[in-house]
Amino acid sequence: MSPNLPTELTYLEIHLDHITANVQTLRSHIGGERLICGVVKANAYGHGLIPVAKHLINIGVEWLAVVSLPDLIALRQAGITHPILLMTVVHPADLNTAMHYQATPFISSIEELLYWQAEAKRLQQGLSFHLKMNSQMNRLGLESAQLDAFLQQLNQEPFLKLTGVALHFAQADTPDLPNMQDDIAMLMQIKETLDARYPDLVYHLASSLAVRHYPQSVISMIRPGIALYGYELPHLKPALSWISHIIHIRRVPAHTPISYGAIEETTKACDIAVIPVGYADGYPREFIHTPYIIINDKPYPLIGRVCMNQLMVNLGEHHNIKRFDKVYLLHPTHFTAQHLAEASGTISYRILTGLSQHLPRRYSSSSAQEQ
Ligand SMILES: *Cc1c(COP(=O)(O)O)cnc(C)c1O
Repeated sequence: MSPNLPTELTYLEIHLDHITANVQTLRSHIGGERLICGVVKANAYGHGLIPVAKHLINIGVEWLAVVSLPDLIALRQAGITHPILLMTVVHPADLNTAMHYQATPFISSIEELLYWQAEAKRLQQGLSFHLKMNSQMNRLGLESAQLDAFLQQLNQEPFLKLTGVALHFAQADTPDLPNMQDDIAMLMQIKETLDARYPDLVYHLASSLAVRHYPQSVISMIRPGIALYGYELPHLKPALSWISHIIHIRRVPAHTPISYGAIEETTKACDIAVIPVGYADGYPREFIHTPYIIINDKPYPLIGRVCMNQLMVNLGEHHNIKRFDKVYLLHPTHFTAQHLAEASGTISYRILTGLSQHLPRRYSSSSAQEQ
């Protein structure tokens, strides 16, 4: 007889139905005729690249965006045929791979345009791309002063086809900034310049927070990431639970130090529960406020340092919690990645993308079986 598979004490549960609800909420914000490009970089913000991408396609999201060529290849190998934006610079050695897997790359300089043109010519193969303009971000992107030269070079060769123009905000989190209004104006100006010659381009700028704070930035398509997963806009549903189980409970008296460094001790007699989750799983180690763990819908404070693979929780004196009871390190309503981020002085994005790849991910809606 073969032994049992190990019990998964710790796992992530991804609520695909919440992602569906979030996409519906976004659609109602932007109006029916606008497109959605679902950003699934960083393992779909920790939620699992392939199952999330398939789910987004199933519920009608028109485009996907990644920032790595291996992610693009994984999506194609999973059978996804929708357009995929590759929002990064592709190494010259990888151009034919990107073309083989039908990337729609961002091109953000004349130099990149030249090497893509040379490759497309060598392969005698067409390539659609989106022109990425610089913004107050000053990361990737063409300076608007170079636009004419870029378009002139584009017209030298027939293989590359401009199908979209994109921009990315530096401060989408703050409403009413003149700098951001300037960026929108710049893109609208480019649209005006290009409309006659390229009437069918997709213009896109808005990330999740821009949809909220700069509705004028919603042009023909939006590129939401964090909002798909339930954060940063009102009325969204966090799509992820982080579940584990208590592996030990110890009764201790007042003034008992707990965990490494004895940085914290009990103030009165209480029960300390051990949870098999630590910073190696992506739980933060530095805090500015005490985080909570949810057990039977009630919050219990973390006590002492988070270890590599374990952490401790103060259950207090009176409770009916038992060893192997279920706990939530992240809960879609009671303690979300936003709450954990605030406790550790960071942002929800950092918590979600820090969730370790090795954590098992379970998908809690029928669409998950499609994978
Ligand atoms: C990550 C990213 C997005 C999505 O941003 P959110 O704030 O998660 O909505 C959109 N566009 C670009 C270029 C990005 O890098």
